[in-house]
Amino acid sequence: MTKALYLVDSYLKESDAIVVSVTDGKYVVLDQTIFYPKGGGQPSDTGQMAKDAKVFDVVYVGKFSGEISHEVDRAGLQVGDKVHLILNWQRRYKLMRSHTAAHALASLLNQGTDALITGNQLEEDHVRFDFSLEKFDRELLEGYVEKTNRLFGTDVSVKWYDLPRDEAMQIPGVVKMAGAFPPDIPVLRIVEIVGVDRQADGGTHVRNLKEVGKIELLKTENKGKSNRRLYFKLS
Ligand SMILES: [Zn+2]
Repeated sequence: MTKALYLVDSYLKESDAIVVSVTDGKYVVLDQTIFYPKGGGQPSDTGQMAKDAKVFDVVYVGKFSGEISHEVDRAGLQVGDKVHLILNWQRRYKLMRSHTAAHALASLLNQGTDALITGNQLEEDHVRFDFSLEKFDRELLEGYVEKTNRLFGTDVSVKWYDLPRDEAMQIPGVVKMAGAFPPDIPVLRIVEIVGVDRQADGGTHVRNLKEVGKIELLKTENKGKSNRRLYFKLS
């Protein structure tokens, strides 16, 4: 099983690794990785994998039957190769800021209106956010974005840690995704915005709300009371 270094330290930009398997020449499994595999609404990381002077582009990272598989742009890597991993940090850092921003906004919206998140998708340049909400108007949502932005101006830590499943499930609102239950595993990873929100989550986040900066509401869409949608971006 690949050691997922990004779960422990989301700020790792480079690391070494050893090639454990190669499929069809370009799907590479490593002993450890800093690359986040697509999942939970967060897109995969991209970057590079270097063996000596040979540099391979990492174009996609996914989880297949529990294994983290790195798709590289061409063949040439072999089992046992020692490689150096370099993350496209600019992209990842934006995704981290967006992901933490989405949790904060979801939390304030949930606390203020009982809205449940029904879906969310982070992209490098915007976030799509689906939720259920009785009352729906742009002004109301602008208000929540503004409230969330005020929070981003304050010094609030973000932490992540594992909790036994039973203990985690006692946390009110630990699952905000409508109809979603965390995987049936004995330990859940919790992302905590201290004093604001605790959420079962496998994504990568910033360590302090100040790092988010500000967000901007781009667009709202009304698809019925159980399906409202908004788009925001980092500004
Ligand atoms: Zn999340």
